[in-house]
Amino acid sequence: MKNIPKELKETLSKKFPLDTIKVKNTEISSDGTKKYLFEYHDNNSVEAVLLRMKEKELNEEGQVIKSEKYTFCISSQVGCKVGCSFCLTAKGGFIRNLSAGEIVAQVQYLKKLNEIPQNKSVNIVYMGMGEPLDNYENLIKAIKIISELDGLAISTKRQTISTSGISSKISKLGNENLGVQLAISLHAVEDDLRDELIPMNKAYNIESIIEAVKKFPIDTRKKVLFEYLVIKDKNDSVAQAKKLVKLLHGIEAKVNLIYFNPFEGTTYKRPLEEDMKAFQNYLLSKKIICTIRESKGLDISAACGQLKKKEEGQ
Ligand code: SAH
Ligand code: SF4
Repeated sequence: MKNIPKELKETLSKKFPLDTIKVKNTEISSDGTKKYLFEYHDNNSVEAVLLRMKEKELNEEGQVIKSEKYTFCISSQVGCKVGCSFCLTAKGGFIRNLSAGEIVAQVQYLKKLNEIPQNKSVNIVYMGMGEPLDNYENLIKAIKIISELDGLAISTKRQTISTSGISSKISKLGNENLGVQLAISLHAVEDDLRDELIPMNKAYNIESIIEAVKKFPIDTRKKVLFEYLVIKDKNDSVAQAKKLVKLLHGIEAKVNLIYFNPFEGTTYKRPLEEDMKAFQNYLLSKKIICTIRESKGLDISAACGQLKKKEEGQ
């Protein structure tokens, strides 16, 4: 536009940037996982990941065909305040919240960069960098924009918020009745260990989280996901699996066991496969759905925060 003053143009481009994201780095795994480092206008960057899985589908003749299923792992903050001792994102401290637009832009860019058609539905997990419920207002706004038909039309049922357990915000989120799915990063069944892993547990202990989850409105066909990061000799015993079963009593829950992904400088160790299996088998024997998270993108900087660290040489 030539008919507006130069100063106004500068103000507009500073305050209302049209291109909100630059791709700073990309890593592609042999299993199809793609990890992006997205940079915003103030040079801060976050990671977003595209995961692909083959899904069985029936075609019009009723034959089984395989189609691609996409899951986007999206960040909510630059850094994180929660400070978990096993998490690389925590090491850089907290920088700032992402705006609703910056969250939505990650979804738009992942679709655009991978030529995923607008009408192809995808799943979204807020499991990237940051604690989504610590950026509550912007996250809710983003979820609404992403789900609305005039927005990106991705149903709230396909969006999962992963939280380290801010109980008060879980209750608040439940009251909004958005229809989103909930994932709780539990990781421990005793408060002592959880205090060590997630310092915020001192304010929001295990009991308060379980209470908030029990009141959370959940689609009757769905379950609350409990993520359990397994660290060797810390939380990998069958005795702890027994405690977990007791804790989840009365909740429509499923459990996802995650191998701890080691990084430089950590004293925590990746658990043994046999201990993971024994833990899983105990839960299964008690009729709790329990999966072991398939390690995706192991040949790239798969653990949350690794690509950013590599790029910035932190
Ligand atoms: N802040 C939210 C969402 C982002 S973290 C939360 O904590 O739930 C997403 C998941 O990555 C969490 O379940 C977290 O425990 C897991 N994670 C963090 N560091 C990890 C590591 N080094 N190895 C494996 N999983 C890790
Ligand atoms: Fe934050 Fe989640 Fe990492 Fe904990 S695990 S520091 S809550 S991003």
